[in-house]
Amino acid sequence: MLIVQKFGGTSLANPERIKAVARRVVREKKSGKDVVVVVSAMGEETDRLLSLAEAICPNAPKREMDMLLTAGERISMSLLAMAIHDLGYKAVSFTGSQVGIITDTRHTRAKILEVKGDRLREALKRGKIAIVAGFQGVSSEKEVTTLGRGGSDITAVALASYLGAKRCEIFTDVDGVYTADPKIAPKARRLSEISYAEMMELSRNGFKILHPDAVELASLNKIELQIRPSLNNSEGTRIRESKGQSEMRKTHRLK
Ligand code: ADP
Ligand code: ASP
Ligand code: MG
Repeated sequence: MLIVQKFGGTSLANPERIKAVARRVVREKKSGKDVVVVVSAMGEETDRLLSLAEAICPNAPKREMDMLLTAGERISMSLLAMAIHDLGYKAVSFTGSQVGIITDTRHTRAKILEVKGDRLREALKRGKIAIVAGFQGVSSEKEVTTLGRGGSDITAVALASYLGAKRCEIFTDVDGVYTADPKIAPKARRLSEISYAEMMELSRNGFKILHPDAVELASLNKIELQIRPSLNNSEGTRIRESKGQSEMRKTHRLK
């Protein structure tokens, strides 16, 4: 069985957290699964790169912005591969281009057209844990592209869809999806399950927990998503086809 696990920036913010992610990934591998890991850039790295660019050229060419921003995920993917290697397991990291994530040509907001994935399948066949840089691809014109802020979520679901995984786990800094952003609304309640349609409403209304395009892709391909905390073992929130009236609908009295 194949599982895709995505780790956001806070989950990879420093060496200790990267080592903790490595242990979690190895645990999954030991349970007998093939594991594909999608990583974001460490901590606030993408913001740091954006301000560097701003200091040099406020109106930088978008092509160069993509070259710059994709470097963030390269750092975290290679460090995670090293951390897994240090635990005695085989891992190999890939850029979006190396695994054939083909996008259109819109720099800084590209859309994925296709995932080739040959190198990923080959790495998995050799028993390796495959690590992929999120948020990036290569265009039909052979240029490096990015998918827009928060785009690693899209990479994770796209890989799950193209590789035929049934589930995709999204690890982040909160322990699931809440009725509102728990950092702003302390009374928000955590939901154990939510439908694709409800999650789409939340994402489209600006709750940045999950990129709306990732939710849409998951819904189209029936990939079950699970939003989980990277810092403990909580099951978090499952996002799948709804069975009856959910907690979310009751809370907001939706029809
Ligand atoms: P990552 O770096 O892991 O991708 P993000 O910052 O993109 O993490 O998304 C996680 C954040 O989403 C949380 O820290 C939280 O503040 C915010 N958030 C917004 N809406 C919600 C919600 N309804 N439930 C949970 N978290 C939410
Ligand atoms: N690193 C990118 C960002 O900060 C992509 C992501 O984290 O999903 O937007
Ligand atoms: Mg995010």
